[in-house]
Amino acid sequence: MTFKTLDHLDPAGKTVLLRADLNVPVHDGQVTDTTRLDRLAPTVQELCAKGAKVVLLSHFGRPKGRDEGFSLKVVVPALEKALGRNISFSADCIGPTAKQTIQSLKNGDVALLENVRFYAEEEKDDPSFAQELASLGDLYINDAFSAAHRAHASTHGIAKYLPSYAGRLMQAELEALQKALGTPVRPVVAIVGGAKISTKLDLLNNLVSKIDTLVLGGGMANTFLLAKGIAVGKSLCEKDLLETAQRIMETASKNNCHILLPVDGITAKEFKANTLTKTTDITNIQTDDMILDIGPKTVQNIIGVLRGAKTVLWNGPVGAFETPPFEKGTVAIAQEITHLTAQKLILSVAGGGDTVAALSMTKAEDSLTYVSTAGGAFLEWLEGKELPGVQALMR
Ligand code: AMP
Repeated sequence: MTFKTLDHLDPAGKTVLLRADLNVPVHDGQVTDTTRLDRLAPTVQELCAKGAKVVLLSHFGRPKGRDEGFSLKVVVPALEKALGRNISFSADCIGPTAKQTIQSLKNGDVALLENVRFYAEEEKDDPSFAQELASLGDLYINDAFSAAHRAHASTHGIAKYLPSYAGRLMQAELEALQKALGTPVRPVVAIVGGAKISTKLDLLNNLVSKIDTLVLGGGMANTFLLAKGIAVGKSLCEKDLLETAQRIMETASKNNCHILLPVDGITAKEFKANTLTKTTDITNIQTDDMILDIGPKTVQNIIGVLRGAKTVLWNGPVGAFETPPFEKGTVAIAQEITHLTAQKLILSVAGGGDTVAALSMTKAEDSLTYVSTAGGAFLEWLEGKELPGVQALMR
């Protein structure tokens, strides 16, 4: 991969336009999860220490035009705390207001421009808007991998008009993904769980042509089980996708990718917290049973596969982990991956909203080689798609 990083530039005295992802959750005017801000901090701090004037660009929510309810101003206090420095806020991301804010910056200062999505041109990747953004700075750095699957003016178009670089967060994400799926050390095992296969068809098709073992869990495994003629009772299952599941299994077999399916499950008659559960062999699911987690034999099978792996990718919980006691399978897998990573026996990369939530429940989010907080962009990468925001840096 050939993209330039902060190692390839001297930003002293330069105005650096830094595309960040400040689209953080906010409740009652307070940022409720600062992960994205904390992860951005190293890039900003490095640039400031090197004497750059740092100008942050970001989207926030999905406003239809200018709408103060989607102002990035709300993020300023949490961002100042994460960066440990003051920020000048500009109420516009282009034009005289933005220019004035930027002109008042000294080397090492940071400014935040208002939500780029206040202009419809942003999402249209409009060239004149991209050029107007570009005119505000000398260099462009993209540190928003999580927005890189969108060809928008601030993630894509702008790179045509300025020397462009990957920030430290973008660099870490690309390097981790490259190691996990681009040029991985084999055997490569992917664990894919979650509710449905319909949302992950491209991902499954891409993975089975690239990896050695695909472990299926969660609701989506039920569709594969039924496609193999195994009754799944009342479990979540996409009956209209049985042929699709069959085709994925055929593609896997043609590519020598082994698919590991559950051999037992934790079942219940109703889906609620702390309900009565049973451990049931997969060939013995009753018509009124729901499979809500993988069973202990399946956990052992997965652990066996993980112990033979060198590279592990994970997306999607293997059970309905938000509802106790159906988190046990997901927790057991998180613990094993953590352990093998700590022993330096595997390189582990996980991502996707629910996977990150499951990992933080297990307090394992800092124990993998890399955990991607980029939901959509991470999935599109796993699907083998080219991400416009990444492509723009490769030019
Ligand atoms: P996804 O967003 O596709 O990764 O799906 C995540 C959701 O799948 C979580 O809300 C889990 O509770 C749900 N899930 C995982 N396993 C099961 C299962 N066996 N039955 C029902 N829902 C499940």
